[in-house]
Amino acid sequence: MIRLENVSKYYHQNGGVTRALDRINASFRRGEFIVVTGESGSGKSTFLNVVSGLDRYESGEMYIDGKETSYYSESDFEDYRRDNVAFIFQDYNIIDAYTVYENVDVALMIGGVAKKDRRKRIKSIIDRVGLTPQTHQKTSKLSGGEKQRVAIARALAKDAPLIVADEPTGNLDKNTSEKILKLLKELSEDKLVLLVSHSYEVAKNYASRHIRLFDGKIIEDKTFEELPTHEKLGRKTSDHAFLTPKSLVTIAGHNLKAMPKRTLFVLALSLLIVLSFAFTYGSYVEQTHARAPGGHPHFRNVSEGRIVVNKASNTPMDASELETLGNLRGVQAVLPYDTILDQQFSIHVDNGGYGGPMRGYFRTTNVNHAAMLRSRDLIDGRLPENANEVVVNEAVQRFADNDALETIQLNFEVRFQYMEYLDLETFDVVGTVSSDRTAAYFNEVYFHEDFFARDRVKTAAMKPYHDIRLTYDGTERFLYQFDMMMESGVSEGKVEVSPYFVNELLPDFDEEDVVGTVFTLKTNDVITGEAYSIDVEVAKVYEFEEQTGRALISIHPDTLYELYADIDIHQVSLIVHDRFTAHSVIDSIDDDAYGVVYPAEYEDSFNRIFRIIGQIMQGVASVALLVVLYFLAFLALRNVMQARTKDFVILRSLGAKQKDIHRISVLEMCAVMALSLLIVFVLMLINSAYRTPIPDYIPYLRFSNYVLMVIVLLTLSVLLALRFNQKIYAVSVNKAFKEGGEIQ
Ligand code: ADP
Ligand code: MG
Repeated sequence: MIRLENVSKYYHQNGGVTRALDRINASFRRGEFIVVTGESGSGKSTFLNVVSGLDRYESGEMYIDGKETSYYSESDFEDYRRDNVAFIFQDYNIIDAYTVYENVDVALMIGGVAKKDRRKRIKSIIDRVGLTPQTHQKTSKLSGGEKQRVAIARALAKDAPLIVADEPTGNLDKNTSEKILKLLKELSEDKLVLLVSHSYEVAKNYASRHIRLFDGKIIEDKTFEELPTHEKLGRKTSDHAFLTPKSLVTIAGHNLKAMPKRTLFVLALSLLIVLSFAFTYGSYVEQTHARAPGGHPHFRNVSEGRIVVNKASNTPMDASELETLGNLRGVQAVLPYDTILDQQFSIHVDNGGYGGPMRGYFRTTNVNHAAMLRSRDLIDGRLPENANEVVVNEAVQRFADNDALETIQLNFEVRFQYMEYLDLETFDVVGTVSSDRTAAYFNEVYFHEDFFARDRVKTAAMKPYHDIRLTYDGTERFLYQFDMMMESGVSEGKVEVSPYFVNELLPDFDEEDVVGTVFTLKTNDVITGEAYSIDVEVAKVYEFEEQTGRALISIHPDTLYELYADIDIHQVSLIVHDRFTAHSVIDSIDDDAYGVVYPAEYEDSFNRIFRIIGQIMQGVASVALLVVLYFLAFLALRNVMQARTKDFVILRSLGAKQKDIHRISVLEMCAVMALSLLIVFVLMLINSAYRTPIPDYIPYLRFSNYVLMVIVLLTLSVLLALRFNQKIYAVSVNKAFKEGGEIQ
């Protein structure tokens, strides 16, 4: 039971003091149906608020089941309200966006009723207040009388011993008012009902007691019928202190579903947040993988698809080692004699005889391995399928022909360094790779694997690193760089030499008698020093070269290939698709057995400093962006969240704990953010699969990067939700009911 002794309540306003309650003495028991009347401003609402614990009083004492309440904290009153009081208000205070069913469901959930019991109870409660046909209608669509029935249903669901109703019929016509009061009377059974009514006439048929207030004082207190009363409110203090996780998820789901426009707005906003963060962070990660601009002192070809591997022991690599390297996850091809990649050659385009300005031009071009490419790296055509097919980059395509790529054949005069005058060869261009894989101004040609297996190419790779010396009669002679020409016109095993060559390298002979002389061409393995040699016979001496003073020797290509045929493999390049794969391949190589160089990321200290500065700036930008996004999101969401204050206050008046409300809004925020993340990741995958002008960071992002993005953005959502919670909670239940509650 509740007993008030000399309870007074004052309001301070505009410097004056109003005594809203003036020394009230009264006591109430379960079973009573008390109608409170009085003029407007006489203190009726204040009286109800004090009894129900919504408002504090200043002097006197209120006893609840014999316990003093003047020392109650806000949280004690919360517990009291949660376990004992059901509210019915003039303006209903039900959650408009919910259906009738959901409004009742939420009250039961907060009351700790298990899901399996709820369904039946909700149906029967809704039936008792006569709203079965409207069960799944949104309450915003109901009439005033129906809304008040929902409020009563909710009070029933709560099953509190004290029902407090502040002018529940104030907005209803006489007929409807009668019905509502009748319903209330029927359902109140052994509860204590405190009903404020503007008109005693309407309520008098149901009242067991009438209290009249005037100027904050009780001026009349009449009991008409002595009912069997109960001494105590007697409601157990609940042990269901918090909502179950299931209920939290259900309520959060209700909320998201109930306000689709709001949910879409929040979704759009979080998509924006995720997108802008994904791009800033993606470019930061890309920066950390950035290509070193300075090049490598030994390896000219710094393509990101090339990893150079050496034997640590200086012993040759055997077939099984090559196979092991080739089987590493991500390795597309193993290229022995890989120094071919560091060479350049000339290409000559025959553009079909139109005689444009480019006709007959030779261009210096870089050699690449087509296994570096995937089909999706091509902007046109396909990958090469045999040694005579190539893919070129846009730079080559541009100077060849802008449009008619398919019809163009590139005539390559394969002028590898130090390997002049090979026959002109023709390659079919079958595809074009975007220049964004390479520097836009370099000409790049990608050859099929079979091209690199050719003796000619292998020889071209070896020759610059293997001096050729001439040995005759036990004497080794070496004239720095005699020009060796490969000519198929010379018979195999024979050579043709210039007079100068004879004078300098075979001084024992005259030009006339040197024909038929056999001498040895010799080279050494650079690493082991092991010697390789072939014997050749002079077939002819040129007559015309003497004046030029050059030592020339022409040899059949196959004869020269023989010289290099058995040289051991000490170094290979592993061919991979991209930087990301390169990193994982490098990690998987046994670094005791092999030395690994990744030319694409070689940098000198100067470059390193610039890269680190750039990286720090990108990192700072990412963090700054997050801060900005947080505040922008807060501003954008402010009105949306404000509109929800009342809903949350209603949940609180039903007894939901502060923590539960926090959890619900955190859940909602995180659910929307998780959905946004999913959408953005899918969009990024699509963007990556179909080459679009939008930057593609997928190749750079590792699993840990995704995890970090998810954590950072979910944390942002949690922080936002908590910040709104704080603001919402700063508004007291009472104030929120009176004024709607504003977030400052
Ligand atoms: P009733 O419900 O009977 O109309 P109230 O309990 O609302 O009366 O108000 C009683 C008195 O207290 C009135 O004079 C009213 O102006 C004053 N009052 C009520 N609430 C406040 C408040 N929050 N701040 C200042 N004065 C208030
Ligand atoms: Mg009032």
